[in-house]
Amino acid sequence: MAKKEAVSKKSAKGSGSKDEFAAMSSQALFEHTRELSKKYRITGGGKFKLKDFPTSVDSDLAREEKPVAQQVLQTGVEELAAMQDKLYAQDKWSLLVIFQAMDAAGKDGAIKHVMSGINPQGCQVTSFKSPSAEELNHDYLWRCMKNLPERGRIGIFNRSYYEEVLVVRVHENFLASQKLPEKLVTPGIWDERLNDISNFEEYLNNNGILLVKIFLNVSKKEQKKRFLERIDKPDKNWKFSKADLTERKFWKQYMECYEDLIRNTSTKRSPWYVVPADDKPFARIVVASAILHALESMKLEYPKIGKAEIAELQNLKKELLSEEE
Ligand code: ATP
Ligand code: MG
Repeated sequence: MAKKEAVSKKSAKGSGSKDEFAAMSSQALFEHTRELSKKYRITGGGKFKLKDFPTSVDSDLAREEKPVAQQVLQTGVEELAAMQDKLYAQDKWSLLVIFQAMDAAGKDGAIKHVMSGINPQGCQVTSFKSPSAEELNHDYLWRCMKNLPERGRIGIFNRSYYEEVLVVRVHENFLASQKLPEKLVTPGIWDERLNDISNFEEYLNNNGILLVKIFLNVSKKEQKKRFLERIDKPDKNWKFSKADLTERKFWKQYMECYEDLIRNTSTKRSPWYVVPADDKPFARIVVASAILHALESMKLEYPKIGKAEIAELQNLKKELLSEEE
């Protein structure tokens, strides 16, 4: 088992020095990865304040050039793949991972790296953009309901119904396009939506779908750096649009909306993770750790078979072995 003592208090906080990591066995590194997300997890949001959560950390795990960052992510991803195999085999629980963030915070990269080792058959990714005419003809959860993960699967939402209390709240013209009866559009609509979302998530939890909600907490300064890179590097030009700059102007309003939604929709079975996202390697490790935590809480096991089935398997084996070539 893990040598827990090898994980010092300092490194468990995500600020370990190179030497501390160097002294760890791979099992200890794995334990470290597993614990890392804890301090960014919000399970009851009452007093949550965004300003209490960092956008960057001082750790070797945050430095792309450090082998330890790659090693820790690799360990986490391997464990994730092993657990996903059991999730799939057991075919009862499912996991929904929601990614929300400002532009260029690294959603796509996190999804790509963290899910890289897992069986594609057991994973479904859905990106939610501005709703289509058909989608606007329904309530806002409709398009999300259709894409919930099947039993035994991991579903990933790249943006989600949380846009309904983010972009739609920041730009109320989106609300006007939703064709709601006028009587229902009141100043209380955002509280109602947060309440409905909370109830919806509880409904999912009660049906065996656990949630991991990731807010990639990038700083405004780092976003500017990434936008400039997208403008300057030809192979990144396609990632930048004028609309990104427009949304940046509403940074403060977006942060207020994030704070409000994290305060109102964080629970033990559907926690938010406020992930420092200025350093991509660190963010990815925390995401892997958060997903591992949720999968572990399911206490997954391969389906067990009874004595009669084992005997039957032995008979089938005999039959196969006695086949003529
Ligand atoms: P990238 O990081 O690559 O830019 P993205 O998730 O921002 O990825 P885009 O195609 O740039 O993808 O943007 C999708 C846009 O759709 C976002 O600006 C988002 O706010 C918007 N959107 C998503 N859901 C809704 C909604 N319900 N109503 C209005 N706009 C929405
Ligand atoms: Mg975008």
